[in-house]
Amino acid sequence: MKQKLQPIVEPIVKWYQKQEKLLPWKQDKEPYHIWVSEIMLQQTRIEAVKKYYTRFMKELPTIQDLAVVPEEKLLKLWEGLGYYSRAKNLKKSAIQIQENNHGKMPTSYLELLKLPGIGEYTAGAIASISYNEKVPAVDGNVLRVVSRVLASKEDVLLTETKKKITNKLLEIMPDEAGDFNEGLMELGEKVCLPNTVPLCAICPIQEFCMANKKNLTNEIPVRVKKQKKKIENKTVFILKYKNEIAIRKREKTGILANLYEFPNVIRGSNRRGNSKDLRAMANTI
Ligand code: SF4
Repeated sequence: MKQKLQPIVEPIVKWYQKQEKLLPWKQDKEPYHIWVSEIMLQQTRIEAVKKYYTRFMKELPTIQDLAVVPEEKLLKLWEGLGYYSRAKNLKKSAIQIQENNHGKMPTSYLELLKLPGIGEYTAGAIASISYNEKVPAVDGNVLRVVSRVLASKEDVLLTETKKKITNKLLEIMPDEAGDFNEGLMELGEKVCLPNTVPLCAICPIQEFCMANKKNLTNEIPVRVKKQKKKIENKTVFILKYKNEIAIRKREKTGILANLYEFPNVIRGSNRRGNSKDLRAMANTI
């Protein structure tokens, strides 16, 4: 598989290096900036993050400022972004960095992973962008681009698929690890679009893309939705006689197999159905 992905590295790095870097967090590779922007971007659109990021950096320009900011002020700065645990984890991490690392961001992927709120993707993004460590940063955009390049029909919602793609990327990480990761992500955002026709004609890796060659871009990535939960409304009977209470054993198969339960019938069936259910229930007690 390495051979199939290897040819995309150089064109992606070159393509990314030519892109205009207009976003405020792309003006430098300062790890604190990358970290805060990545956390904000986790659940929020790029456009919405811009003003929050700019204000946050104006108020809390260093890790030291973040470590001592009163929680009320921090939450005010985050107001509107939602998922407040992200902000609280930022502060927790800043305190940890102050106490254990003399106020300096850890410089390796594995050390970054130890901070609260930093998962594999964020650690990969900071380590590769700020320090050029050769680690992938696999988000939804990257999963889509790589699946299409490989014409892979594996479900991108599965952890297993993500792991496989991460391992494949790990084998081909170039010296310009940050530019490669950012290039893959930006390609997914601007060219290899989701839920619509990707812009293959202007894609720098078109000649290496199997989905494009096989005309499969509308089928890939594969996302198998989880089955909807089945909701059953039941009437449950508490049947008591002196000190005893009726229970019955569930079926041998299916959910909660062989466990005990109070007798019950499914609600909403018609009268005749109900009496049938009741007779069946009586036989099982
Ligand atoms: S050629 Fe098309 S499908 Fe393939 S990576 Fe580029 S934009 Fe995506």
